[in-house]
Amino acid sequence: MFQRGHLETSLLGSKKCNLNCPVCDVEIEDELHIFFGCVVARDSWCVAGLSSVLHNAAYQQSNAMDRIFAMCSNESSDKVGRVAMLLWSIWHNRNDKLWNDNVQTPRQIGRYAFDAWND
Ligand SMILES: [Zn+2]
Repeated sequence: MFQRGHLETSLLGSKKCNLNCPVCDVEIEDELHIFFGCVVARDSWCVAGLSSVLHNAAYQQSNAMDRIFAMCSNESSDKVGRVAMLLWSIWHNRNDKLWNDNVQTPRQIGRYAFDAWND
């Protein structure tokens, strides 16, 4: 389980004590959940055309940073660029939900990553 210190020093910089995911409100929030495990995130990967990367057996590290690093090392620059856009979109959506209570659909999140890369 997460220690308080771990959460505070993590990427999330969480200011809330609530450990539920702000997007789907069910599971304990950590980087792996937000970017890869959350139902909204998973659908977004799919919409962005990146589900093959998400499900690749080479990228099942238990740590989100390790996973992202492995993807960046193995995928083409085209894919890496789209993955980066997608992660940014997922992160932005999560913050927007947390601070502004705005929520986007996976279609919007994934399309944004897809379109931004193709423009
Ligand atoms: Zn979630």
